[in-house]
Amino acid sequence: MKIVLLGAPGCGKGTQAAKICEKYNIPHISTGDIFRENIKNQTPLGIKVRAIMDSGNLCPDDVTCEIVKDRLLKDDCKNGFLLDGFPRNLYQAEALEDFAKPTVVIDIKVDFSKIEKRITGRRSCPRCGGSFHIDFIGSQENCPECGAKLIVRKDDTPEVIRERLLVYRNYTEPLIDFYKKQGSLRSIDGDRSIDEVFEEIIKVLG
Ligand code: ADP
Ligand code: ZN
Repeated sequence: MKIVLLGAPGCGKGTQAAKICEKYNIPHISTGDIFRENIKNQTPLGIKVRAIMDSGNLCPDDVTCEIVKDRLLKDDCKNGFLLDGFPRNLYQAEALEDFAKPTVVIDIKVDFSKIEKRITGRRSCPRCGGSFHIDFIGSQENCPECGAKLIVRKDDTPEVIRERLLVYRNYTEPLIDFYKKQGSLRSIDGDRSIDEVFEEIIKVLG
């Protein structure tokens, strides 16, 4: 199972990715999480990409592709993997064809009008990477999964969200056609409850 999850920021990719990976016992590879981990640890890569990420733009393709390629060579990817946040443009999609052609690409669709509200209500866990909406967790300050103090991601402010949606529209959305042509695209209506979306994904994966 080589799965790619597509969808705009705030569509629920991260949440669904975690559930899928638990069910099928495959590694969850999130390029956003990898970059954030590097920023937290102030690695040379983290220092390089920090300002780019904070502005809502894409990190450079060459490093991003290299990171994913190396990660996919690890033993735990032998029986499959799930990519969350990669590829994000045509260059990356073409590169991925060369080192690990995806078997199924799931596009989670949510109206742009709903996304800003979804993301501004998002609280993220710096320890386990989980994200939760205030509509569900209320004013709770700690991660329901691991107990760490929740934060608002630096790129989850209204201005940066608008930039990220623009980047999505210009660079990532064309991948829907790319994978349609490949015959691997499956579209899911993401404007439903977490469990309903998950159930449909399971059906698609069979
Ligand atoms: P979301 O899905 O909510 O937009 P992510 O955690 O996937 O958030 O990504 C956050 C940021 O990390 C992006 O806005 C971008 O700066 C960087 N990033 C993540 N994946 C990639 C990628 N494949 N190519 C370039 N930049 C990326
Ligand atoms: Zn946590």
